[in-house]
Amino acid sequence: MNNKYDVVIIGGGPAGLTAGIYTSRDNLKSLIIEKGIIGGNMNNAEIIDNYPGFPEGVNGPELANLMHRQAKRYGLETIAAEVIAIKDLGNKKLLQTSDGDIIARAVIIAGGSEKLKLSIPGEKEFTGRGVSYCTTCDAFFFRNKNVVVVGGGNSAIYEAMHLTKFASKIYIIHRRNQLRATAILQERARAETKIKFILDTIVKEIQGKDFVQKLVLENVKTGKKSTLEVDGVFISIGLKPNTDFVKDLLSLDKQGHIITDENMNTETAGILAAGDIRSGAIRQITTAAGDGTIAAIEAKRFIDDQ
Ligand SMILES: Cc1cc2nc3c(=O)[nH]c(=O)nc-3n(C[C@H](O)[C@H](O)[C@H](O)COP(=O)(O)OP(=O)(O)OC[C@H]3O[C@@H](n4cnc5c(N)ncnc54)[C@H](O)[C@@H]3O)c2cc1C
Repeated sequence: MNNKYDVVIIGGGPAGLTAGIYTSRDNLKSLIIEKGIIGGNMNNAEIIDNYPGFPEGVNGPELANLMHRQAKRYGLETIAAEVIAIKDLGNKKLLQTSDGDIIARAVIIAGGSEKLKLSIPGEKEFTGRGVSYCTTCDAFFFRNKNVVVVGGGNSAIYEAMHLTKFASKIYIIHRRNQLRATAILQERARAETKIKFILDTIVKEIQGKDFVQKLVLENVKTGKKSTLEVDGVFISIGLKPNTDFVKDLLSLDKQGHIITDENMNTETAGILAAGDIRSGAIRQITTAAGDGTIAAIEAKRFIDDQ
């Protein structure tokens, strides 16, 4: 593999793919390194209603595929690997990856975020055996079953609504007595007869034999413990930025997002950040694409100035 590129983009979500469209179309030799599935979190959205150009909405994986095809048309390369560290060598950057070292003149970090874990007994053990973080991927396996969604934000409600097409009963478990989701989403969820709410409650443990069978719950106000028999648990309690691999190189905010200026520059010249991974980002597909555009233009400017 030729391991020298003008621009290396870490992450193939909408921020990385948009940056790739711009840099490769600008004749910069460009590479996306993606550790998971091209499309990033778009793959978790069954239907995207707010990305311009799709009046009937668009399926998330389909939008991801369209963006990738568009970037490849201009010569963007993609490899499946994880970036483990970046070393700043001045006008060159060294990327250590699970597939060997790669040299870049400029780097755009578009690593987005991943689902937070509950970190309770049984969670790891039953992941893939009843515990899931993605309804679009796994809801189908819970046809006519009873499931739980843990969380109270918009994503949790979306996940529960999606599950109504498959499961027979969906419990939304939230640790507070009010949901964080927008009023309109809450209204829609409350109108669904299959959805039941268990508020002021946390999940203490996930139990089962080969697959999930029951949850141990605790009411946070009374401390009273109870059990709930279910076949599946979807965990939707928020996202954490994928910044562990740059925490010693770049400044991060309190939540771990990369701090940039308005042109996506980090404090290290030639290293930019775009999309959900960036401090202050709005965290939508349109804004990730916007950040990717700015980062690509700024990366070209940096290379031209060298
Ligand atoms: C369930 C759900 C539904 C959503 N619905 C909508 C919606 O309808 N409309 C909307 O506008 N937004 C929606 N969003 C938000 C939207 O998906 C995100 O804002 C957007 O995907 C962020 O794009 P990104 O490119 O910054 O990061 P991501 O999409 O998170 O992509 C980052 C990519 O980087 C990769 N990566 C991370 N670290 C490394 C590494 N070290 N090495 C290599 N690769 C790495 C990851 O595997 C990932 O593929 C939704 C999100 C979720 C979770």
